[in-house]
Amino acid sequence: MYKAPIKEIKFLLKDLFQIEKLFKNTKYESLDEDTLDGILDEVRKLSEKLISPINRDADTKPACLKNKKVILPESFNEAYKSIAEGGWVGISGDVKYGGLGLPLIVTTCVNELLSSACLSLALNPLMTQGQIDALESHANEDIKNIFLPKLNSGEWSGTMNLTEPQAGSDVGALRTLALKDNDGTYKITGQKIYISWGDHSLSSNICHLLLARLPNSPKGTKGISLFLVPKYIPDQNGNINEVNSINTISLEHKMGLHGSPTAVLEYKNAKAWLIGEENKGMMAMFTMMNNARLGVAVQGLSQSELATQKAIEFAKTRQQGRNMNNSEEISTPIINHADVRRNLLIMKSLTYISRALCFETALTIDLSKNKNDPFLKRKASFLTPIAKSFCTEIGGKVADLAIQIHGGMGYIEETGISQVYRDVRITSIYEGTNGIQAMDFVGRKLGSNGDIAYSILDEIKMNEQIINQKKSSVADYIENARISLTKATDWMISQNDLNDRYSGADPFLRAFALIIGANYMLKTLITTDQEDKIELANFYIKNLLPFCNVESSIATLGANNLYENVNSIF
Ligand SMILES: Cc1cc2nc3c(=O)[nH]c(=O)nc-3n(C[C@H](O)[C@H](O)[C@H](O)COP(=O)(O)OP(=O)(O)OC[C@H]3O[C@@H](n4cnc5c(N)ncnc54)[C@H](O)[C@@H]3O)c2cc1C
Repeated sequence: MYKAPIKEIKFLLKDLFQIEKLFKNTKYESLDEDTLDGILDEVRKLSEKLISPINRDADTKPACLKNKKVILPESFNEAYKSIAEGGWVGISGDVKYGGLGLPLIVTTCVNELLSSACLSLALNPLMTQGQIDALESHANEDIKNIFLPKLNSGEWSGTMNLTEPQAGSDVGALRTLALKDNDGTYKITGQKIYISWGDHSLSSNICHLLLARLPNSPKGTKGISLFLVPKYIPDQNGNINEVNSINTISLEHKMGLHGSPTAVLEYKNAKAWLIGEENKGMMAMFTMMNNARLGVAVQGLSQSELATQKAIEFAKTRQQGRNMNNSEEISTPIINHADVRRNLLIMKSLTYISRALCFETALTIDLSKNKNDPFLKRKASFLTPIAKSFCTEIGGKVADLAIQIHGGMGYIEETGISQVYRDVRITSIYEGTNGIQAMDFVGRKLGSNGDIAYSILDEIKMNEQIINQKKSSVADYIENARISLTKATDWMISQNDLNDRYSGADPFLRAFALIIGANYMLKTLITTDQEDKIELANFYIKNLLPFCNVESSIATLGANNLYENVNSIF
């Protein structure tokens, strides 16, 4: 059964990132250690005792559509109610509209626990949180007053409607039409597919944030506007009085995440409110997407944690083979075999740096908002695609290794480990595929002078010098990786053809994640004398960081590596 990793979380928050110092002189100054501990303990109990036990239902009782009604596992009702009543939906929402007003870093911890406990269900509040953020930033006061209190309380829930059959990664290809009505509202007509939690009855209303196109608007992403389209139309006081014209055509049959209803929705002149300005919808939607991208990174992390826990538990009990270190033991738990230990250490260390990366991204977003610091804002957007892409890829890799450690039992459903593998797989695909994240990273986020990238490499150099003074055996590994990646960064920013950058985007992003991970491990070595943390840091730097050199080298092969030089293959 899942155990919330509270000690690990507290170590990162308090010792590694020194959250209290970070929040000095900000609006989060009142967030003290007791409050934080109280929240973590509350959500630990909820996740372990109430939510985790429903995770099997989320796999074995898929959401389905019967007589136009979405049927969910019965156990979801109480679990959702408890999440909403705990205030965990509107945890970072503005207190003015009924949110708890806590920083994103706290939401990130809460979301990790809820997602490890049940990924399918936790996706619902995650979508609502993104919507709350987008409305706070872009909606007018009337809309905020009607919708935000209900969303913050979880009474209503939110979705994100971008995808259409012909418009997936290419959002600019969407065709859903918006027509302005006489009363200033709009009418939406079109079809949206793959909408997570697009229909259900856990909440009394479902508010869709939807991208659509006005007649004669510019082509591509420049002609897209953002709308709020509720399932039930509320009056000025938020009382529901009319059903909107939205039809749930079907729910998808999926590889995993069975408890989350993924809907095909048809809008026929559905009443909608414009959010932000006409044709500026992409910018507004990015608020929701950035929030959701960190949220999806946390989903990846949550499944790494869950898979690692299951694998360690299994490896301690399953007996096979002789213990190479103890010839008297004829049958030993598989955790004593070198190959199993290597896999478990890989899983442990990748989960550790995934968590640190999610936390740093959340903290940077919090601080950038609070101090309105342009450098921190750009650093937050630099870290977001790395976190989304790396943590979700690692989620898949760790789940895969966990199956391997289970042997044949990993392929048999009753251990539950294949659910983790199937559930986590979508996280590399939705919220912008990992390939698209990598392109965003080397294109927009790296920029023309790579200043954020170089500032991170400089920080690593500084920490390298500190660790050198401690005569640690890992300094050379870090230096080698840093030099390789610095060369790759120089190469990236000197390319004139964007496709040269794109061709190395995926390995470049991974190399960056690996070196940022090494920086967390360096900080760990500098900060703590806890034996297990020191050993994990040394293992990561010696066994996983060297891949940074390989990825950096591949990142600079250029577009011909994938076009002219391989023309005859396809
Ligand atoms: C379970 C589930 C839940 C979802 N939830 C939501 C939701 O709530 N709201 C919503 O709006 N959408 C949702 N989606 C849709 C999801 O965001 C898209 O599936 C995703 O963005 C990819 O789009 P696509 O499926 O059309 O793939 P495509 O865009 O067709 O991509 C196919 C492959 O081509 C690659 N590719 C595409 N374009 C490029 C390019 N220019 N350069 C390089 N490579 C490229 C992609 O990386 C990918 O590997 C969900 C999907 C699923 C399966």
